[in-house]
Amino acid sequence: MHIESIPMWEGTGNNYAYLVSDEKTKDAVIIDPANPSEVLPSLKKAVDSGIKLNSIVNTHHHHDHAGGNAEVLKTYQIPIVGGKDCDKVTKTPSHGETFKVGNINVKALHTPCHTQDSICYLFEDGNDRAVFTGDTLFIGGCGRFFEGTPEEMDAALNKTLAALADDTKVFPGHEYTKGNIKFGIKVIQSEPIKKLEAFANSNKQTQGKFTIGDEKQFNVFMRLDDPAVQKFTGKTDRIDVMSALREAKNSM
Ligand SMILES: [Zn+2]
Repeated sequence: MHIESIPMWEGTGNNYAYLVSDEKTKDAVIIDPANPSEVLPSLKKAVDSGIKLNSIVNTHHHHDHAGGNAEVLKTYQIPIVGGKDCDKVTKTPSHGETFKVGNINVKALHTPCHTQDSICYLFEDGNDRAVFTGDTLFIGGCGRFFEGTPEEMDAALNKTLAALADDTKVFPGHEYTKGNIKFGIKVIQSEPIKKLEAFANSNKQTQGKFTIGDEKQFNVFMRLDDPAVQKFTGKTDRIDVMSALREAKNSM
């Protein structure tokens, strides 16, 4: 499995599109090609080198994720796999539904909260595992609850995504790591978050460098039972803790 990160709107949205391909069969998908002027050159280069672009995959309907679909379709007439509200979507996989990209197994994981149509995608190629989390899980943080509840984010992060193998690499929709650390370190001052801080201070990009196992160590939204997190929020009920964390982060 080869993953090419394509940064978009660097310095403002700091989004990522991802071109994921099976090196053997050359099958590939493009995830969230929201800004075609920055993505199409990479797609053209890949297709010229023999890559077969199977589909667009969207993590959710927001414009900075699914807003490039129509423009990409002008060049590549391919299906669009994504949440029900994504522009021009042709296929919405059900929760747990699988499909193939060459030899890569892909599983759709519904994670409603940031939007109701949010879907994370687990890509598995042998022992190589990656999850594309859109605006649900960021490195060291999570998305805002625009269309959902703290219960839903708890389920998304701490049931659905936490159930993945610890070595699954995390590829989020934005490079928000530094901001997440700024908040997280106010809540917990543990070694794992200090290590993450050191990494983010010396590396502009953090996607794919950390795993679900790492997130359980340093992501406060995945540590609702941590006494330090409960102390920070002044709550003990996990849903109250989740809600208070999100409000505190929003008001930063
Ligand atoms: Zn979003």
